[in-house]
Amino acid sequence: MTGFVHAALGAALGRAIKNPLVAFGAGIGSHIIGDAVPHHDMDIGEVPLVFGTLGYLLYEHGPKSAQFWGALGAVCPDFEHISYELKKDPRRYGAMIEKWVPTHNGKLKHGTWPLEAKWGVMLNFSLFIAGLWLAGTLQKRSNSLP
Ligand SMILES: [Zn+2]
Repeated sequence: MTGFVHAALGAALGRAIKNPLVAFGAGIGSHIIGDAVPHHDMDIGEVPLVFGTLGYLLYEHGPKSAQFWGALGAVCPDFEHISYELKKDPRRYGAMIEKWVPTHNGKLKHGTWPLEAKWGVMLNFSLFIAGLWLAGTLQKRSNSLP
């Protein structure tokens, strides 16, 4: 799964779970499931959208919200890619034994997208909007649920 979709789905989980710490753990678990299902990964260009989403969740729900912590947990596992990305390690797009997340080190298969890329991009944005909607992030403040 691509980062901003992980974030939105983690926020939705957080809203359902309500406890920030449990949401954080569930977010990490959701990352592994999200990586294993067929999906279209987007490149490093999506990074601003990942941090923008986290920032927006922080702004909208606050630092103690389960939505924010669920999203942070869901995004965290991908932070292990950062050092290899910065080093431009030629192996960084494949499974690397040095990594600890099972879908990153090859212990669990990382899902691939079987259709045209455009459908994968559309699915990513649909899941992103659905996740934020389920998280209660897109409702007007006046009628948003706690
Ligand atoms: Zn991942």
